[in-house]
Parts: sequence; C-alpha cells; structure tokens
Amino acid sequence: MSRRTVPGQARTCPLCKATILESATVCPACRHHLRFDPRGGQLEWSSFVPLRVEGTLRPPVDGEAWEYSILLTIKDDRGQEMARQVLGVGAVKPDEERTFELSVEVLAPKPAAEVTTA
Ligand SMILES: [Zn+2]
Repeated sequence: MSRRTVPGQARTCPLCKATILESATVCPACRHHLRFDPRGGQLEWSSFVPLRVEGTLRPPVDGEAWEYSILLTIKDDRGQEMARQVLGVGAVKPDEERTFELSVEVLAPKPAAEVTTA
C-alpha cells in the first residue's frame, strides 16, 4: 500500500491559512483545490457528510438586537471534551436574520474492491 498520512493529521491551507486535514485535496474553508496531494494518488478516498444541521436566528421585529456566540465542542467516546472553541460572536438586529450551518465531512478510504488501479 502507499505511503499514507496519519489519520487526522492536520496542515495549514496555503491560501487561507485554515487548519485542514493533511489528506484534503480541496480546502473546506476557501474551497480551493490544492495541488499537493499527500496521498500521491495511491489511495482512493470517498467523502460524505454524516452530519449537517442548520438553524436561523430572527429576533422579534419589535424587540432588541440579539447577541450570539457560536460554540463548538468535540467529545470522545467517554463524553470527555477533546475540543471546545468559540467560532464566532456577533449580533442580529430585529430586521435581520442569521443562518448557521454546521457540517461534518468524513474522508474514508474506499474498500480495496472499489479501487481501480492504473
Ligand atoms: Zn483554504
């Protein structure tokens, strides 16, 4: 099998400086295609999104502005927090709305039977 990156290993997107997966060929933050493929094209991967949630905040028209903070936590199989991060804060005026979307993209090696070798 090919030289494989360590699962979950991170790197910095050369374009937007976001922390992304070493294995990513498209940056999920800026959506740019990255020329460098650390997998060397040796291993076929498929991606899927097993989790996506979306919600909208809209304060009452005759009310006051709402403040919000976006908190992300990641827990392991024992419920212990592995990461806890405030991703952003802001405010929504009564005549505005904000929509938030969280998605988790998974990259998984395709089963060997599905991999076509050149
Ligand atoms: Zn990027």
